[in-house]
Amino acid sequence: MKIVKNSKELERVVGQLKVQNRSIGFVPTMGALHQGHLSLMEYADKENDIVVVSIFVNPTQFNDKSDYAKYPRILESDIEKLNKVKCDIVFTPEESDMYPEEDKRQFDFGNLDKVMEGKHRPGHFRGVALIVSKLFEMVKPDRAYFGEKDFQQVAIIKHITKQLKFDVEIVSCPIIREEDGLAMSSRNMLLTKAQRENVSLISETLFEAKKIAKNSSVSETKDWVIRTINDNPFLKVEYFDIVDTETLETIKEWSQNVDKVGCIAVHVGNIRLIDNVRFYS
Ligand code: AMP
Repeated sequence: MKIVKNSKELERVVGQLKVQNRSIGFVPTMGALHQGHLSLMEYADKENDIVVVSIFVNPTQFNDKSDYAKYPRILESDIEKLNKVKCDIVFTPEESDMYPEEDKRQFDFGNLDKVMEGKHRPGHFRGVALIVSKLFEMVKPDRAYFGEKDFQQVAIIKHITKQLKFDVEIVSCPIIREEDGLAMSSRNMLLTKAQRENVSLISETLFEAKKIAKNSSVSETKDWVIRTINDNPFLKVEYFDIVDTETLETIKEWSQNVDKVGCIAVHVGNIRLIDNVRFYS
């Protein structure tokens, strides 16, 4: 595996790969890698000649400074993990390389950033769009792999890929969970033992909600989820909504003939976790 620390060197390496006509599968991450990240690399490996992974904790997508400050940074152990999977190139740029000057670009996401994460984390998706567009320009991937754990992010990235006319196929991959159902996340390692024991209620409640939904209205189901999680003293729901997977507009009736996903954000002390589950009723 090649470790590439700056964009100049990446340009050279990618240039060679392009001359050789090798296809590139790209997995952007913020590090503190877990099986969720590694699963994306496995998908990338199946469909491409070369797997490129980036590790960069992107400051512009953090609307909360303390969240950025405490975000886990464990590059050495990340590299060890990458050495054991199919990763050909890991790109670990410095902030000054990704943002040599302030990037003032604005994006039009339509409705997609007006709800859920976008509504509760102002500026977050602009930061995501800034970094992903810069990385796409540098890595020049044929395909890029994103986890459905960040459901809204995938929708946003598909949107800007079209809007900015990137010739990149966006591949969305399923959520990888711990044994007790908790969606894997780099932030999970910040949880205390007591918090960790309680957060499995989030996914348990989402899975149970799929059963509740069979005999309840959409709003009854949403109320039940919020009440059940908020009854646990460790957890505080920021939002839970059941939305159209394409438009992210709120679902009012189960009879609406669209694919549906229930998305949640929960505060656990000063840590914020997200998860989602599909509804098929
Ligand atoms: P992050 O490092 O949190 O920015 O995540 C990098 C990529 O890994 C994103 O596309 C995430 O959606 C994806 N990812 C994070 N957690 C999981 C998970 N539990 N299952 C699948 N993909 C994930």
